[in-house]
Amino acid sequence: MAREKKTAFIWDESYFWHNAGDGALFEPAGGYIQENGSVESPESKRRVKNLLERSGLMNQLVQVKPLPATEEQLQYFHTQRHVEAVKEMSKIGGLDCGDSAIVGRGSYEIAKLATGGAIQAVKTVIESDTVNKAYVLTRPPGHHAEADQGMGFCIFNNVVIAAKYAQKEMGLNKILILDWDAHHGNGTEDAFYEDDSVLFISLHQDGLEPIDRGKIEDTGKGKGQGFTVNVPLPAASGDAVYQYAFEQVVIPAIEKFEPELILVSAGQDGSIFDPLARMMLSADGYKYMAKKVKELADKYAKGRMVCLHEGGYCPTYVPFCTHAIIEELSGVTTDVEDPFIYAMAGTTYHKLLPHQKEQVDAIREYHGL
Ligand SMILES: [Zn+2]
Repeated sequence: MAREKKTAFIWDESYFWHNAGDGALFEPAGGYIQENGSVESPESKRRVKNLLERSGLMNQLVQVKPLPATEEQLQYFHTQRHVEAVKEMSKIGGLDCGDSAIVGRGSYEIAKLATGGAIQAVKTVIESDTVNKAYVLTRPPGHHAEADQGMGFCIFNNVVIAAKYAQKEMGLNKILILDWDAHHGNGTEDAFYEDDSVLFISLHQDGLEPIDRGKIEDTGKGKGQGFTVNVPLPAASGDAVYQYAFEQVVIPAIEKFEPELILVSAGQDGSIFDPLARMMLSADGYKYMAKKVKELADKYAKGRMVCLHEGGYCPTYVPFCTHAIIEELSGVTTDVEDPFIYAMAGTTYHKLLPHQKEQVDAIREYHGL
């Protein structure tokens, strides 16, 4: 049997330097209490890298350096106006390039390097003889970014450009983008809504953000009809609900599509401890999803699977969720155990409640799966 191929880990120190603003944009303090900075801070991401080093898993990964995306590559999706606007704002810093997407000083270069990390990951899993999986600690994240503006902490849409790169420069055709961030990947959906070459599946908290997006009935348009699968789950859905959604909807949809490459918008803000969503996933829940996607990548896509970091705002739990995903991708097990699982014991994170089952069943029926 052939030796299992390795997993690349892509990051750059500057990813942690992107300044997403002081939080004043949302006026959380309202003049009553001290500001606490932007919730989109580097903390949860830097600790991912730290935990990989601490556990020894980093030694088993292949570190690949990102190169900046070119302006031409950014324009595979974004308008020249948006790219130029970010470039100009980046000289000053602290300006919003759309809807709640602050460009810090120097963030243009950092965002280009984040998108470039996604591109480098795709190139690596396609070209390398020894690596077929990759995790990119992309920051700023990307899945909300629209063609002509940034949104929700996202400046450039890393996953969209990675998919376009795979098609335009690597000659691939059928690409799956699976988005398990707790928020809907509106920018990604827009990019491929009328396209049958990219299957977009989004699991997210029903009615969270953007509030009117990610509905069951949004299934694509024109020749893209049926190539968008939205899986809005009720708040408080945990491991058992996500597993049921995988069994009933996600896995059958992917098997029908047979992708040549799998990209995952890996947002770990569906965890039980996240401040920006109300889902109940554990690190084990993320591990399960990574395992299933990996099996599908091995079956259909020559093992080629790239995860791009999206949201995730609990600085102490995101590292454990992400570490579990990377253990699964790489097939390497460490002695790291979830130190917070005890705190979830009395919750329903491992239960499939009737209203949750009903919702998933309705989605399956809607798509005829
Ligand atoms: Zn999110």
